Amino acid sequence: MSQTITIVLDLAAEAHRARLSTVDSKGRFKGPALIHLHVIPSLKVFLNAFEAANPSSYWSLICCTNTKVETVGRTGEGIDLDAIMRMLDDRVKKAEVEEDAAPTTLASSEPKANPNISISKGISAGVTTAVCRINSYLNKNLPGGLANRKRKHETALSASASGADDGFTNLHKNSDEAKSQNNVIESRILVIQTGEDWMPHYNNLMNCAFAAKSAGVCVDALQLFCSSDKNEERSSMLSQLTHITGGLFMRPPTPAGQVHGALTQILLTVYLVNKSSRNVLSPVVVETVEFKGRCYETGNKIDIGFVCNLCLSVFERKLDTCLTCGSKV
Ligand SMILES: [Zn+2]
Repeated sequence: MSQTITIVLDLAAEAHRARLSTVDSKGRFKGPALIHLHVIPSLKVFLNAFEAANPSSYWSLICCTNTKVETVGRTGEGIDLDAIMRMLDDRVKKAEVEEDAAPTTLASSEPKANPNISISKGISAGVTTAVCRINSYLNKNLPGGLANRKRKHETALSASASGADDGFTNLHKNSDEAKSQNNVIESRILVIQTGEDWMPHYNNLMNCAFAAKSAGVCVDALQLFCSSDKNEERSSMLSQLTHITGGLFMRPPTPAGQVHGALTQILLTVYLVNKSSRNVLSPVVVETVEFKGRCYETGNKIDIGFVCNLCLSVFERKLDTCLTCGSKV
């Protein structure tokens, strides 16, 4: 079974993270992890290990900012560091412009506009691109793309399940089952988010999650907090995304837990293992899932809310017209 992995790396909070980074009295860097100093070197180690473990594998790296999504690396070509630095430079310049304009313009138009919080607005676009990339790869390598992949995957699973009872005869029954297994390409996505959730894209991300699930694509996620600030919340969107698709979600508890090789260790011990081997290896226990919804108007967490019967947006107060799709409710 060959493997593909598409990594979605969020660059949106980089300027914010650089400002928050600190050193201790001995001059030792205490985090949070920075893209070019910590995340990219750790990803290189991870991808080398991924290629070594899966010789016929395919990987690609997609970076996203709040306004842009770009593929910056793939198997055979390596990682384009110049492209990443260009995106980071753009992002830093934009962040400075946004800060100059805040709070008068941002506060009125964006929920949770807060200069102490950096929001990742490109995640849903990045995950959408990743699903499309996997579909395109499978279309080239497996006729029928994702739909066919799902069918082949189910055939292979049932073939391997029946093999347990069938023993010797199964080995010689026919070559179709073996062929099916060889044709399976296990695909997954790893999302690395560096800021907080952008709630207006909740619907988009959940649509991606169900599309990925129906195609048998597993989505793993890693959230890198900017600071130890308790107000900085863990991502409910990522925890739901990984729960729906059967992936893993975790976050290092402190910014210091992202640097000095810690990030490499997390990537190798938690995320290197492929989906089919995780049941055997009992992977690390990761974050619990938060099922609470968020109000689309205010971004507040809610236990009970009003749901639009057309687009399924959730609101904490009763409305005559849905703010998302404009339909009468
Ligand atoms: Zn609606």
